[in-house]
Amino acid sequence: ALTSDDTNASISERDRSSVFHSWSAQRSLAPLPLAGGSGSEVWDVDGRRYLDFSSQLVNVNIGHQHPRVVAAIQEQAAQLTTVAPAHANATRARAAELILERAPEGFAKVFFTNGGADANENAIRMARLFTGRDKVISTYRSYHGNTGAAIVATGDWRRIPNEFSRGHVHVFGPYLYRTEFWSTTPEQESERALRHLERTIQAEGPDSIAAILLETIPGTAGVLVPPPGYLPGVREIADRYGIVLILDEVMAGFARAGEWFAFDAFGVTPDLVTFAKGVNSGYVPLGGVIISDEIARTFDDRVFPGGLTYSGHPLAAASAVATIEAMADEKIVEHAARMGTDVLGPRLRQIAERHAVVGEVRGRGVFWAVELVADRETREPLAAERMGALKKDLLDQGLLGFFAENRLHVVPPAVVTESELDRGLTIIDAALGRLG
Ligand code: PLP
Repeated sequence: ALTSDDTNASISERDRSSVFHSWSAQRSLAPLPLAGGSGSEVWDVDGRRYLDFSSQLVNVNIGHQHPRVVAAIQEQAAQLTTVAPAHANATRARAAELILERAPEGFAKVFFTNGGADANENAIRMARLFTGRDKVISTYRSYHGNTGAAIVATGDWRRIPNEFSRGHVHVFGPYLYRTEFWSTTPEQESERALRHLERTIQAEGPDSIAAILLETIPGTAGVLVPPPGYLPGVREIADRYGIVLILDEVMAGFARAGEWFAFDAFGVTPDLVTFAKGVNSGYVPLGGVIISDEIARTFDDRVFPGGLTYSGHPLAAASAVATIEAMADEKIVEHAARMGTDVLGPRLRQIAERHAVVGEVRGRGVFWAVELVADRETREPLAAERMGALKKDLLDQGLLGFFAENRLHVVPPAVVTESELDRGLTIIDAALGRLG
């Protein structure tokens, strides 16, 4: 707990001496100590305020400290803080009902997990049990979480030092700006990525493949909005070979892409949906799998061999109920969509025109990537030191961005106001000018 004597320096020192950080060599870390937040802003222990254009880990979609969500957690804590998963609980049932109301027709049940990784873990398990097959196809440009199957399904560098289990195959997905298929149009990219996927399935042996697992919009990999036809094409291929289609909506869902589920914008319905992050903006850890009627029914009389002590934890469920209700009442999903089309899209494109260091901007809703390059012709990614300089400059100007490789991801809370966007984009514009 913070005391009035605490400073950024004192908390940093305590953190450094006792906390082991994710994905890092520990020696030279300099984490920013945060003390509080409200809406799209956070402040550090010294009281300095920052616009949070990272939404922390792209999860605080409803903004910091939404009063309805905080109150719901407090009320649930006063009533019953925890319950074993085998019991029934009204709050958990309500959370599942609200999620299913927003899913397409044909979805029957929700299995709750602690976060996104174990949501994917359990979706993969369901697909394997449902099909009696083993392999999972996912893309190299993906992140699906940090547990057994989820980290091996992940395509990015984090997979490689963790690659202990088998049964995973990777393909390249569509990414026109850095096409693997020599495409020049989105249509070509879509068609060729689909052919590559289908040929991989044929070469691996279709009867060995349980699932295709895709982020609807690959997020950490660069907000790679799929080109027209790609996801419907994947659906057709999955159907042709009896493969379960799992769409990972952990980052893209619950207002991030300006939709309840990002796949709503792409004319595709998966068999399993994984979610976490935005479902309750991470106020309490929560994730889950939304299960199609067909897959759910196979476990009516057959034991599902999986579970978690905190599956559907009441505090997490209460925060999901309040988040979904507040998002609906305050039209936060619609607001996120409008901020994308009216403000973020046009303003980021103007910024791209002004600065040669910007190779491409892409996204939708409050889910955008600014891809930075050393040379617009060759598209060589901007070097890590210059990305580090940009990150520091933005922080000095009071803006937290989300950085991944040579990209700045502009991912504010879905409640961000037009004036906050204006303030943040002005800071980004000026910092890119200084970057040269
Ligand atoms: N899937 C996607 C698309 C993600 O972005 C993430 C986390 O960033 C995960 C899964 C893993 O979620 P968690 O960190 O809650 O386990």
